[in-house]
Amino acid sequence: MKLKSIFKICLLALLIVACKDDVKVDTAEKTATEFSFNVEQFADIKILRYQIPGWENLTLKEQKLVYYLTEAGLAGRDIMWDQNYRHNLKIRRALETVYTQYSGDKASDNYKAFETYLKRVWFSNGIHHHYSNDKLTPGFSKEYLNELLLGSNTKLDGAAFDAIFNAKDTKKVNQAKGVDNVALSAVNFYGPDVTSEDVISFYKNKKSPNADRPLSYGLNSQLVKENGVLKERVYKSGGLYGAAIDNIIIWLGKARGVAENDEQGEAIDLLIKYYMTGDLQTWDDYNVAWTAATAGNIDYINSFIEVYNDPLGYRGSYETIVQINDFDMSKKMAVLSENAQWFEDNSPLMDEHKKKNVVGVTYKVVNVAGEAGDASPSTPIGVNLPNANWIRAEVGSKSVSLGNITYAYANAGSSGRLKEFVHDEEELKLEEEFGGKADKLHTALHEVVGHASGQLNKGVGETKETLKNYASTLEEGRADLVGLYYLYDSKLQELGLVDDWEKIGMAAYDGYIRNGLMQQLIRLNIGDDVEEAHMRNRQWVSAWAFEKGKADNVIEKVTRDGKTYFNINDYAKLHDLFGQLLKETQRIKSEGDYAAVEALVEGYGVKVDQAIHAEVLERNKQFTAAPYSGFVNPVLVPELNADGEITAIKVTQPEGFPQQMLNYSKNYSHLPDVN
Ligand SMILES: [Zn+2]
Repeated sequence: MKLKSIFKICLLALLIVACKDDVKVDTAEKTATEFSFNVEQFADIKILRYQIPGWENLTLKEQKLVYYLTEAGLAGRDIMWDQNYRHNLKIRRALETVYTQYSGDKASDNYKAFETYLKRVWFSNGIHHHYSNDKLTPGFSKEYLNELLLGSNTKLDGAAFDAIFNAKDTKKVNQAKGVDNVALSAVNFYGPDVTSEDVISFYKNKKSPNADRPLSYGLNSQLVKENGVLKERVYKSGGLYGAAIDNIIIWLGKARGVAENDEQGEAIDLLIKYYMTGDLQTWDDYNVAWTAATAGNIDYINSFIEVYNDPLGYRGSYETIVQINDFDMSKKMAVLSENAQWFEDNSPLMDEHKKKNVVGVTYKVVNVAGEAGDASPSTPIGVNLPNANWIRAEVGSKSVSLGNITYAYANAGSSGRLKEFVHDEEELKLEEEFGGKADKLHTALHEVVGHASGQLNKGVGETKETLKNYASTLEEGRADLVGLYYLYDSKLQELGLVDDWEKIGMAAYDGYIRNGLMQQLIRLNIGDDVEEAHMRNRQWVSAWAFEKGKADNVIEKVTRDGKTYFNINDYAKLHDLFGQLLKETQRIKSEGDYAAVEALVEGYGVKVDQAIHAEVLERNKQFTAAPYSGFVNPVLVPELNADGEITAIKVTQPEGFPQQMLNYSKNYSHLPDVN
């Protein structure tokens, strides 16, 4: 149900897409003439840009709706910065002043290091790496920063200054085993003296009025200790982040005025009410209304949504994504939705874990018109909401794939890496011909069928209570497995989704194993454990299948010229193994079996084979493409008549990444340094 799930299968798919290269150049040249997807590259980051296809086909009213929703999203940008770390806004503002005011030597290595650091901070919405969660290491000294500050008449001192250089708050989110994850996470969801124990006991006592429809306690607040008493500081108008939220409300009000239909309008009303009150019942009412409002051409995500930045999974990070339907692609994906029950009935799950009625699964391909907060510059490529299990069960959910973002990734990739890691010519050909389609279908199956599949046993709590720190990776792995199970199935061809189900399945399996056992390791430093939920699940799924298939040589580890490859010898048996693991992961989820999920994840998903890791890094050295990508947003420019009315809205591209970041900081700076 997690979206970050989405969020990040997404990254997974990303990694695959980013590595798939050669084939797509062709398409790109035909359809994307003259458009350059690449903006710039620094550190481990590549900045891309995306287009908004079909913008000119929208009516002016629809364009206004998109524009207002985008402004509403940007109005909350600073919330994410403060949520990520309590010193972030102060640090960002000081660094930006240096960047714009400093008139000393800008050609020196020191200044270049400063520039790179600031870009990395912009990219991560703070001073911790957006993906690894580690504090970013500046390539310059304290003394040099002081020199810059002095030279640009800027002040940054005390704890905020020290935070850039010292060894405190080194992890934004600490997920390590056997330590106090709340106390050791730098993220600003909890007061400095709040412990994991505090949080768990605080929410244990919260009882929802309707036990079958549990409220999302903790989603929209900071938990602090005042005189030894735990207290929530709620995100709302007049509350924490109230100044930014008031601006969000203004723009949502304008959007409300041009809503496409009553359902959409009423949902926006509820969102405004939620921002006004911070009331969690209103939040659920809003989500029910938003989920049911499917008729428009425009849709949006806006609020405190994904809980991955909270080590305990309570608090939502601010994010927004404004979306325009891609009807053509959506038609194909609707087929999966319509057949969700067939997939459920025919899955290898134990009968008691199968849903009798898979409700309202929708899947759409949309084109993004603007993103902010947790979704920008690093973006998901798909989203599945709402997160509350009971709403998903009773009302359904909305699942979207971000088509123009995926397209930009696919066409900005560099070539070569694929050839380095495939076992043989056949694998290369399969990937080139079917890899793209397989990725898309896997994402679709993961979102539409995967997250919607299965049910909890009666009386078993939400996975954040039962599976705790392993809930995300288990859910992501489970959704991946549903996809993997059906990717090698003639049903896809029967439904008209593929022309050659077997080849699609083979390409999908090759890609998954190649990535899960080797290629994704390019993202880690030698000696690191796998920590991110999706990377973990890709590894535990792959490593489990590798081990269980050893007796039958299902996946063969091949060494050739000192290089390691994993070659799949028996796709049908691998399909069976994926089915077995799917059944087991659903059992774990349905029963809330913590010991089993811990054994699975710690046993297969966390530790890295050091020899293979070193080899992968060595083989990857020749490819310079940065491992992480993100996007600048197009700029929506309204044209006004003499009466100040909008007569047209043009889409332009920003001058560059720093320019867009500075522009955002200037125009959407609604919060004080300390909140
Ligand atoms: Zn997911």
